Amino acid sequence: MALDVTAMSPRPARAPVQPVPTRRTPVGLEPNATLVDREDLTTTIARLRIRMDAGASTFRAGQYFAIGLAVDGRLVQRPYSAASAPADAGDLEFLVRLVPGGSLTPSLWRLVPGDRVRIGPPKGLFTLDSDDPRRHLLLSTGTGLAPLRSMLASLLAPLASRGVSPTSNPPIVVHGVASAPELAYRAELERLAHAGRIVYVPTVSRPDHPANDGWTGRIGRLDGLLGAIADTTGIDPASTVAYLCGNPAMIAAVETRLTALGIPADAIRAEQYWSAPR
Ligand SMILES: Cc1cc2nc3c(=O)[nH]c(=O)nc-3n(C[C@H](O)[C@H](O)[C@H](O)COP(=O)(O)OP(=O)(O)OC[C@H]3O[C@@H](n4cnc5c(N)ncnc54)[C@H](O)[C@@H]3O)c2cc1C
Repeated sequence: MALDVTAMSPRPARAPVQPVPTRRTPVGLEPNATLVDREDLTTTIARLRIRMDAGASTFRAGQYFAIGLAVDGRLVQRPYSAASAPADAGDLEFLVRLVPGGSLTPSLWRLVPGDRVRIGPPKGLFTLDSDDPRRHLLLSTGTGLAPLRSMLASLLAPLASRGVSPTSNPPIVVHGVASAPELAYRAELERLAHAGRIVYVPTVSRPDHPANDGWTGRIGRLDGLLGAIADTTGIDPASTVAYLCGNPAMIAAVETRLTALGIPADAIRAEQYWSAPR
């Protein structure tokens, strides 16, 4: 099923964005990159392509970059996982959710191509070990797909260059969202699945949401689906490595479920986008 772009709502009219730097922007934190493209999947999910002035940045699949903007006269920065692959010489791509009332994302939402931002150096230890021979289980909710897409590209590219396709144990990509238009990279992932290069399992958690009219795929949360996914894909717990990214509740529930399926704790790696409320 193709993404219904006609269902995408337009972004609100643009309000002025403060340029970076301001008087209070510390020296060395001036803008160093330009937003070159954006695609709004919904009113709250967007793909942003950003070009560094100094050219492509070297990073490892799974790492994040701080995106910074001047907000009310001070530089506000937040971490965002790169969705593009390290081998994509050129622009960095990010998949971002608008958090209403947040410190950065409402300002980020007003950016249009040509606007300037500050991008920090790559950081983070949630990185792919591409030499790991185990089967990869990539589990995410919402924008947590971003680092997993980067990892997937890094996993598949060497196989393609060696003419190896499809693999006998293709990576499994499970992506949970509230509504189908939030399924970023859906067409690309469906193409890979059709070619037998991955197993793609998109799922929506709110079947009654109007945007899910016509949805015929899986319904439910990741942890509830894992048993069935393990059965249908023939996961061998002893030779599987799982990468999880997204919201804290999902990560806690899925870790518990993976452990119950027999996947050892040291074969489960996770990146959590924010802290669970205490
Ligand atoms: C390593 C890392 C990588 C990240 N990568 C991404 C990414 O690729 N894409 C992305 O959209 N976000 C990502 N985030 C989250 C991002 O850094 C910000 O926290 C988020 O964009 C909110 O920023 P804000 O300044 O607008 O809101 P803030 O003022 O920082 O946050 C307000 C509150 O919103 C909550 N919150 C944060 N993120 C979300 C969310 N997505 N949904 C619901 N509530 C949230 C937090 O509890 C926080 O207390 C990542 C976070 C980390 C730690």
